[in-house]
Amino acid sequence: MKERNSNSLITSLLLSWYKKEGRDLPWRETTDPYKIWISEIILQQTRVVQGRDYYFRFIERFPSVESLAATKEDEVLKLWQGLGYYTRARNVHAAAKQVKSIFNGVFPSTYSNIISLKGVGEYTAAAVASIAFNESYAVVDGNVFRVIARLFGISLSIHSSEGKKVIREIAQSLLDTQDPGRYNQAVMDFGALICTPAQPKCTACVLQDYCTAFAGNRVGELPVNDRKISIRNRYFHYFHILHNGSTFLQKRNGSDIWKNLFEFPLIETTLPSDFTELEKREPFRKLFAGISTFSVDHRLAIKHQLTHQAIHTHFYRIIIPDEIPFNPPKEIFRIDDEQLLEYPVSRLIHKYLETI
Ligand code: SF4
Repeated sequence: MKERNSNSLITSLLLSWYKKEGRDLPWRETTDPYKIWISEIILQQTRVVQGRDYYFRFIERFPSVESLAATKEDEVLKLWQGLGYYTRARNVHAAAKQVKSIFNGVFPSTYSNIISLKGVGEYTAAAVASIAFNESYAVVDGNVFRVIARLFGISLSIHSSEGKKVIREIAQSLLDTQDPGRYNQAVMDFGALICTPAQPKCTACVLQDYCTAFAGNRVGELPVNDRKISIRNRYFHYFHILHNGSTFLQKRNGSDIWKNLFEFPLIETTLPSDFTELEKREPFRKLFAGISTFSVDHRLAIKHQLTHQAIHTHFYRIIIPDEIPFNPPKEIFRIDDEQLLEYPVSRLIHKYLETI
């Protein structure tokens, strides 16, 4: 292994690798901070292949930060549908409004102003500031943490503040201050294509001679992730109710998942329940108060996995005879059946809609 005191060599090897092998991504053809910001937000927790289509659709519908600020949140959520992590969509909308009200509609041009926008953290602020405005801020995300932890043999946990601090300092020391945006994109691509979480391509790696983990046969051990994810099981029972050519939705609120998205009337239980058991519950009686006759059809059972939750879901289609009046609780509203696809919904609801 070569001397570790070779940061400038590592940087130049990364840059020459990037010149030959870097990904040809559509948002790299622009220096518009708004478009770079949108691409970075979409790519958080989303694969490039999937994110590309959403990026094009989003930019076509909202070509500027003003157009995004001027729209309704429901429309942003609808466009985001299927991407998951909907907080991102609510935040980009809120941030666009901030740009309008605080920065007179002009996307901010400094790291400190960019990071003041809703939902923008250190990673996104560094990416936008460096790529669009040439500011010398190194990006550090999971990819970069992994590359640096392996290259420099850092055994500190990715969750520890000490680990984050050390990695950030090394990242900053590797930054090419002449062209920080290009360097940041190079290291991101390198983490995504070469120094991958599983089966990194060490034999084809241009940094192999400088890599502490490779030299010490510790690639599989780094980076250190000492936090176990605990999964919470939840049991959702959705009712797709049909009555007089209408169906029924409610809007999710509070601080739970899928805030402000729409869904069918729902009963959640802490343990698995079948329909007979559900019928005995108070929320069921409240939902179907005064309805003694209906037909029920169990349409779909599905387990929907989120990062920290497993949603065990049953969808029931309930048909209430037209001649029986149906007045659900006030949070549930009636829509024409054909309007169903106009509402922004979670990927879980979307999966069900694909079956009907
Ligand atoms: Fe990553 Fe392997 Fe290259 Fe080291 S040698 S930087 S572990 S790909």
